[in-house]
Amino acid sequence: MSIRCYFCGADTEQRAVTVDERWDSRLVVIEGVPAEVCPQCGEVYYGPEAVRRLDELQRSQDADGRTIEIPVFTFARKGAAETVDIASSSVLTPRS
Ligand SMILES: [Zn+2]
Repeated sequence: MSIRCYFCGADTEQRAVTVDERWDSRLVVIEGVPAEVCPQCGEVYYGPEAVRRLDELQRSQDADGRTIEIPVFTFARKGAAETVDIASSSVLTPRS
């Protein structure tokens, strides 16, 4: 069952997606989450079943034992002292 994307109006497609979330201070990855995904803008929509199961996983902390390594990036260029003044940008780019 597809829905109409709230943002761009395209019909969504059902897919299994990988979700990354922060649970307290931990960054976690949940694979195989059923979702409706907009093929045009990439917006992802979750049904009540998926939301309920994600809540359940967060409460149970029932991980499957695998861990992955995640690279860490520092935004500032090495040796640079300046900070980025976002308010002075004339063009802001949305990221979903
Ligand atoms: Zn869309």
